[in-house]
Amino acid sequence: MALRAVAEVQAELLADAALCESEVCALGSAHGRILREDIVALCDVPPADNSAMDGYALRLVDVVEGGALPVSQRIPAGCPAEPLRPGTAARIFTGAEIPAGADCVVAQEDCELRDGGIAPKVGLRLRQHIRPRGQDIAAGSVVVHSGRRLSAADIGLMASVGVSQCWVARRLKVALLSTGDELREPGQVLAAGQIYNSNRPMLGALIQGLGGELVDLGIVADTAQATADALRRAAELVDIVVSSGGVSVGEEDHVKDQLEKLGSLVLWKLAIKPGKPLAYGRIGEVPFFGLPGNPVSSFVTFCLMLRPYLLAMQGAAKPLPASFRGCADFDWPRPGSRQEYLRARVSADGRVSVHPQQSSGALSSVAWGNALAVVPPGHTVKAGDAVDYILLSELGA
Ligand code: AMP
Ligand code: MG
Repeated sequence: MALRAVAEVQAELLADAALCESEVCALGSAHGRILREDIVALCDVPPADNSAMDGYALRLVDVVEGGALPVSQRIPAGCPAEPLRPGTAARIFTGAEIPAGADCVVAQEDCELRDGGIAPKVGLRLRQHIRPRGQDIAAGSVVVHSGRRLSAADIGLMASVGVSQCWVARRLKVALLSTGDELREPGQVLAAGQIYNSNRPMLGALIQGLGGELVDLGIVADTAQATADALRRAAELVDIVVSSGGVSVGEEDHVKDQLEKLGSLVLWKLAIKPGKPLAYGRIGEVPFFGLPGNPVSSFVTFCLMLRPYLLAMQGAAKPLPASFRGCADFDWPRPGSRQEYLRARVSADGRVSVHPQQSSGALSSVAWGNALAVVPPGHTVKAGDAVDYILLSELGA
């Protein structure tokens, strides 16, 4: 199979992702979930004209040079207001409803207490310090659209229009397998030839960060039998199976062969660096992703391929990571045949530098950076060139 271009494979994967069911979710548990309905405002926000200041509500026509207005009522936030008696002021607090008839609020620091009343010390404007009804949101308007990954602000917005629960994508069950006889878990003692399993907790964190329910099936030995057993068992338990390692063509790599025996291989080998060997297929109806073993390759292919797929399964409107443009602070003189995702740091003024160690095994470069700089196949980069990047914070990484 020839190497496939990143964008082409992404489009194919998104088209192949089956939409999962939705479920009702209380607002308090909705953070990060994918919304599956349009949220319509049940009321205006604010629901009534209210004061933006602690001060006095009055009618502009009642204000005369040097005169004081008696205070006829007191309106704390949350209390109903009486209509304003002409020729008087109402003591009012931030968030309290403006009494009918009042057309102006004077801040308390702009008033003088005189002759048992209040006298404004400054010039007044009609409707000053009044937050009008519906200023933020009009009843009946759509405040959050279906397909949105709910942020804290979205949740606040939904609450502000009276919504207490919403339809979201149900949590996907994701099985995670780590292949490799060399792997030991952190906390164990390493013997000669062994390394710690870093993909397992890293991929687990990424999956859980997407709202997935992790079914961690641990380490799988590098044999055809163990790989087949693990894939078969995993597919019975979950919505999607993910493995790391064992996906190349070495004698110790069994994932691709066993996937082809148990189910079907749809995609293999991407024109991406790091991460060329990536297997996508199905075990029965259950989708399967075989990520590469090298930790940076695993990370990058998760972010570029599996993450959009998991988001598409949940109905996300924008499953692909957003790309931004900065100014290269580095030279990349050798054009590659694959699209490169360089571990990069973007400064506040948009300058992009890259980590000196770009090996696919060097996770410290990912932890050092805040972005992946994208160099398309056949391209070189000179300092000062425009360069596209993806922010790790946007990937929940
Ligand atoms: P593989 O794709 O299985 O040939 O693995 C490629 C490289 O990634 C090898 O150096 C492995 O030791 C390493 N590797 C594979 N799986 C993991 C893992 N879970 N954690 C850390 N390194 C791994
Ligand atoms: Mg291996």
